[in-house]
Amino acid sequence: MKTLSSYAVILMASLLLTACGGQDDSAPVEQRLEDASETISEALDAASSDVKDALDEASGNVNEAFDEASGNVKEALDEAADAVQDTLGEAQDKLGSREGSDLHSAIAADYRENLGPLFVHFHQNPELSNFEFETSKRLAAEILALGYDVTEGVGGTGVVAVLENGEGPTVMIRADMDGLPVKEDSGLAYASTATQVDASGKEYPVMHACGHDVHITSLVGTARQMAERRDEWSGTLVLIGQPAEERISGARAMLEAGLYEYFPKPDYALAFHVAADYPSGKIEVPKDIVASSSDSVDIYVRGIGTHGASPHKGIDPVLVASQIVVTLQSVVSRTIPPLESGVITVGAFNGGFKHNIISDRVHLQLTVRSNNPEIRMQLLDGIDRVTEGVARSFGLPDELMPEVVRSPVETTPPTINDTATAMLVEEAIRAQMGSDVLFSKPAEGMGAEDFAYFVEEGLGVKGVYFSVGGTPAAELDSAPGHHSPFFKIEPEPSIRAGVEASVISAMALMPKS
Ligand SMILES: [Zn+2]
Ligand SMILES: [Zn+2]
Repeated sequence: MKTLSSYAVILMASLLLTACGGQDDSAPVEQRLEDASETISEALDAASSDVKDALDEASGNVNEAFDEASGNVKEALDEAADAVQDTLGEAQDKLGSREGSDLHSAIAADYRENLGPLFVHFHQNPELSNFEFETSKRLAAEILALGYDVTEGVGGTGVVAVLENGEGPTVMIRADMDGLPVKEDSGLAYASTATQVDASGKEYPVMHACGHDVHITSLVGTARQMAERRDEWSGTLVLIGQPAEERISGARAMLEAGLYEYFPKPDYALAFHVAADYPSGKIEVPKDIVASSSDSVDIYVRGIGTHGASPHKGIDPVLVASQIVVTLQSVVSRTIPPLESGVITVGAFNGGFKHNIISDRVHLQLTVRSNNPEIRMQLLDGIDRVTEGVARSFGLPDELMPEVVRSPVETTPPTINDTATAMLVEEAIRAQMGSDVLFSKPAEGMGAEDFAYFVEEGLGVKGVYFSVGGTPAAELDSAPGHHSPFFKIEPEPSIRAGVEASVISAMALMPKS
């Protein structure tokens, strides 16, 4: 594009040319002036037409660029508006199913009026395993008031509440009731200062350091919603308060007391545990393995005592036991398939009396974990084999063979969810509470849970055991673990989610036909 200044130069040049008498010096002044003015006017016309062309071209370009830019902006704005619309729609859907849901708001109201204060009561009044006297009494009274048939004292302090509501399957929901001998140091305003004397006469500080107070409070909330919604489901509901989960003995005690004979035997059994390492209110429904088997094993190693300076005159049980401990580590690493899990931990090693005496006995205490009943037997048999083999290699005679004792009390099979039922329950939770509530986290250890007994293979009871988070998301990294004196759970979101998921699951399993 030409510039206006170039036209000015041309103009000046023609003026100068004319004034200095370019071609025709002899012509009269008027004529010369006229010629000059004609030349100037021509030059001006040409220049102005060029300027106009240039301006037109420029404004055309500007217009084109503007059109293009405004087209782009419009497109981007349309896209953004669509995205906002979609997000709004999704949010409205969620609000529609959550806030608008009758169940969700009914539980929120129940928490404000009943469950919140009830949780504080349970938290401040924890009781030791098998000593849940006041806890079970209060739990029974709360559920009795809702119209259930309630029986106390089933397998010790166990509570069984039944609500018959027409044809259909029987669903059992279990909550464990016991606290732990831990002195609470959570700093909570409602922290426990309770103490309790156990069977040995010793007094212990007691704390709900595993969150079982969340479970029993939730059971009352579930009892209320299920009773108030009898027209929405059909079947038989059995709610149980179980003693002594921490000793993995309460479930077995209730079964031995006739839980499945004197009360309606369940087709399905549900339970949940609040989890300090999960965000508050989030739910995980495992599809198969939930908790590992646990077996306590005692090994009594015998030896032949003698003077510490004359080891050849005896058989040293400390060395025999040490060799047993070392060889036991080969059972998991060398005898079970590498993709299976197992733990053999020797938690206690006690023997000997003095520096210069070779003693005649050592006591080992072990815990054994697995996720599969066959592997469990393989580990337990491996312990027998290693113990006897090592003892023989030291020359111990038959009458001094070590004794291996599997605890008849501290024992539980792995807890394995019924896959199809777990999927059905998870779908029902997703449909009513939204996908966001579901959460999943790989297991990090081999914890055990005696809920396994209620759903053990061969009983025909399909089990679903799920987790409900209890720690604000921002505090997860620093949250104290279960059984710690600092343990604290955020009660409202965990209890509300626990009740809502339990009610949704029970109703999904007992639909009204
Ligand atoms: Zn627990
Ligand atoms: Zn526990």
